Amino acid sequence: MSTDFTQEQLAFAQAVAAFGSKEAGTREQRDALTENGTHTHNQALYEKMAALGWLGVTVPEEFGGADGSTVDMCILLEQSAKAMAPIGGIGPTLITGAAYSKFGSPAQKESVLGGIVAGRSYSISMSEPEAGSDVGNLSCRAEKTDGGWVINGQKTWCSNAHFADRILLVARTGRGGGKHEGLTMFDVPADVDGLSIVGIGTMGGKEVNDLYFTDCVLPEDSVIGVEGQGWSQLMTGLNIERLILAAMMLGTAQRAFDDTLEFITQRKQFGRPVGTFQALRHRIADLATEIECGRLLVYHVARLVDENPTTLFPREASMAKLKLTETAKKVALEGMQMMGGYGYATEFDMEKHVRTTLVSSIYGGTNEIQRDIIGKTYGL
Ligand SMILES: Cc1cc2nc3c(=O)[nH]c(=O)nc-3n(C[C@H](O)[C@H](O)[C@H](O)COP(=O)(O)OP(=O)(O)OC[C@H]3O[C@@H](n4cnc5c(N)ncnc54)[C@H](O)[C@@H]3O)c2cc1C
Repeated sequence: MSTDFTQEQLAFAQAVAAFGSKEAGTREQRDALTENGTHTHNQALYEKMAALGWLGVTVPEEFGGADGSTVDMCILLEQSAKAMAPIGGIGPTLITGAAYSKFGSPAQKESVLGGIVAGRSYSISMSEPEAGSDVGNLSCRAEKTDGGWVINGQKTWCSNAHFADRILLVARTGRGGGKHEGLTMFDVPADVDGLSIVGIGTMGGKEVNDLYFTDCVLPEDSVIGVEGQGWSQLMTGLNIERLILAAMMLGTAQRAFDDTLEFITQRKQFGRPVGTFQALRHRIADLATEIECGRLLVYHVARLVDENPTTLFPREASMAKLKLTETAKKVALEGMQMMGGYGYATEFDMEKHVRTTLVSSIYGGTNEIQRDIIGKTYGL
């Protein structure tokens, strides 16, 4: 754990860890909370965290939040991921909340930021079947009508829309000179007429959805921020989005490491714990070193963002996302190998860590795209 935390931050980390251990510490508890792993989010558990005042960690005080720092947010995400607390709503909710916080009208802020504090979930929908990495090329359309907007088109891969309260939709309101012009953010109630939400089957259970908009009518005041400025508004959220994903993968990497260490310390072959064979001991040393490097990077970037809230850190934020997702994936895969057949068995959590971490290099901008962004900051 970073030694640069304040006493308050250390206490916060310990409180989240203790909560996770009490509520989701055993496999039986986690199975009960997730219907045997088919769901990523348990609303009752999430509301308990809301009642403790944790979900509004970065929400301003005027909306009932704790007005905490980006470091505080990363502590919450790292510790809850490490505890395997099934609160899949938290990542997209905090990403979405940051956009409402910056660009929302007073009424939108009241509703969404207040909702985050109370334990409601929110989704963000940019991706489309033909606009994934090239998301600026999206074509879901919002037409202005008398007193409102009509949305038509398909979105895909929308995390948590099946239990979200509202969805931050990015749609095309115009075609300017470039593809990034003419995009607008909209505030969409998840139960609005004209929107159909259909789950996509994945290795992770019920998590992502296709969204079909058919003549879906939204009121005029549904625009978040400025019409036509959706792309530049999205760009201002990238520091936070990448840090959120990195912090969650830091927690998952640490958990996969801890689970591996526990197993290889107990498992004996040839009359000794398998962890004492140099082949495994050295891998543990390498993984521990990588996790510590990743932890330093996450909290370094979080502090940069706290100290410079209006500055974009494309290089550092992408490095954090890249490094922590690759590290988490590596720890889980190595953990599975070091546990032998037991790592592959559903009785143990390692196969879940593998599934959780595999996809982390795809969502939130693939790691190929993160490498591209980092490379561009070196003038390439
Ligand atoms: C579990 C999950 C949750 C998600 N949640 C959300 C969400 O809540 N909201 C949302 O809007 N989206 C979400 N997404 C979508 C996600 O952001 C996209 O899947 C991702 O951006 C990649 O798009 P794609 O899947 O269409 O792949 P593609 O863009 O088709 O890419 C295919 C491959 O080509 C590579 N590639 C593409 N372009 C380049 C390039 N220029 N240079 C080098 N390599 C390139 C990619 O890295 C990838 O390996 C989610 C996805 C998943 C799997």
